[in-house]
Amino acid sequence: DVYGPGRKNSEGLDLSIKAVRDQLTAAVAKLDREELEAGPIISGRLEKAGAFKPALSPSHLSRTLGRAWQATPAQADTAFAAAHAAQPGWDRRGGEGRAKVLRAMGDALETDRERLISICVREAGKSYADAIAEVREAVDFCRYYALLAERQFASPETLRGPVGETNQLSLRGRGVFVCISPWNFPLAIFTGQVAAALAAGNGVLAKPAEQTPIIASEAVKLFHAAGVPEGLLHLLPGDGATVGQALVSHPGCDGVAFTGGTDTAWAINRTLAARQGPIVPFIAETGGLNAMFVDTTALREQVIDDVLASAFGSAGQRCSALRILFAPHETADALIDGLKGAMDTLVVGDPADPRTDIGPVIDTDAKAVLDAHVERLAAEGRVLRRLEVPAGGHFFAPTLAEIPDAAFLQKEVFGPVLHVVRYDPAKLAEAAAPLVAARYGLTLGVHSRIEAFADEVREAVPAGNAYVNRSMIGAVVGVQPFGGEGLSGTGPKAGGPHALLRYAVERAVSVNI
Ligand code: GLU
Repeated sequence: DVYGPGRKNSEGLDLSIKAVRDQLTAAVAKLDREELEAGPIISGRLEKAGAFKPALSPSHLSRTLGRAWQATPAQADTAFAAAHAAQPGWDRRGGEGRAKVLRAMGDALETDRERLISICVREAGKSYADAIAEVREAVDFCRYYALLAERQFASPETLRGPVGETNQLSLRGRGVFVCISPWNFPLAIFTGQVAAALAAGNGVLAKPAEQTPIIASEAVKLFHAAGVPEGLLHLLPGDGATVGQALVSHPGCDGVAFTGGTDTAWAINRTLAARQGPIVPFIAETGGLNAMFVDTTALREQVIDDVLASAFGSAGQRCSALRILFAPHETADALIDGLKGAMDTLVVGDPADPRTDIGPVIDTDAKAVLDAHVERLAAEGRVLRRLEVPAGGHFFAPTLAEIPDAAFLQKEVFGPVLHVVRYDPAKLAEAAAPLVAARYGLTLGVHSRIEAFADEVREAVPAGNAYVNRSMIGAVVGVQPFGGEGLSGTGPKAGGPHALLRYAVERAVSVNI
């Protein structure tokens, strides 16, 4: 009964049904007639003062979605004070009391699903399939962490000790957490971090990615409506260098949950190290240099499907995405041919069109980094296939390239670029060496019909999430607890049974009776 036989994941929507597609396109059309707003939400109030930025859509450069007000240092002070005042009461509600509120949040997300999906499509450029999965994952995080709160936080654990003494251990909230989330899962990871911190009994100051404040504002409104005290949870949109930095260096910060790039994780680590004040946990989930190893026994059609989904799905903007495909010398040509053909069927374009497989990348900066990378590949004659893409948005052509070995990539390339390395499966360790030396450890794929080969790959390449004979993206809450090692993050895994422990303090009480 590990979090329970009765537990079910959210069901989502079935895009193969025309009525569902029509409903979603109508929801996007309705959203397009709205002027959207996002900004600091301090004690339940949307603060529209100070500077704002236009809220943009990555697929429609000529249009703005609305306005996003930026948080100020003064608002951070107010929010920390309010959250610290509200936190002890929330902590005293216990795991069961908090679980009720989180379940109400899960239900509210499902009820509001169509609107949330439309915002993910417009603000983050997500395809419908990805936007549906996004809402499902957010729902799952709320329900799963509710369950953990009940199981782990409801009553103290009694420990064996000497006769005449009772010994109990309980988990309590730490105080106020700063949650810093990425634009690639602007609802799921945002909601997951906040729900975890709340479930463990903490107050929260949440800073969404600067590219996706609108969906985060919607989530915070829903959390409050579901029963999270307004003083306990605050939203502080803005950029990392100012708002993120102000939150993390603040003496009121009792812990940081962060998902984003490895460089930012280093910066947060430095700030926390330099700070006077409580020594606090830093939960980081960062990038990966994710590889898949195929051997000659693998089923080619299945490999091609899974590679396509893993490398190009979500425009490659997942930290779990496949970056380096290790193809055996013997079958590499056939595999590359198959991949080229399959790539040609991918539709890149406006995510609000249900026929689209791959939407835009998030913004100009992301596109510039990818452009520079592919220019280098092209200049060296390494590009095997590039697709055509429409104009009008930050569309980036899915690209297949061949590189000599994993050392060619020093860093994560965050977009739809797949690199193939030819290798000899009998000399696995040699091929994997540069990958292992890079010290990432997020996802790993294997395609083989020989179990011993899959085991060998898993031993050779450390990774938090290994996937054998399937795609290597789309971890499901409670099913594939997600998170990496080394340069890829600290753990605990999101959506796993230990997720809440680092958000909590442990208190032991010994009573002599
Ligand atoms: N959990 C996601 C997956 O399994 C990736 C999360 C991320 O990109 O940050 O694909």
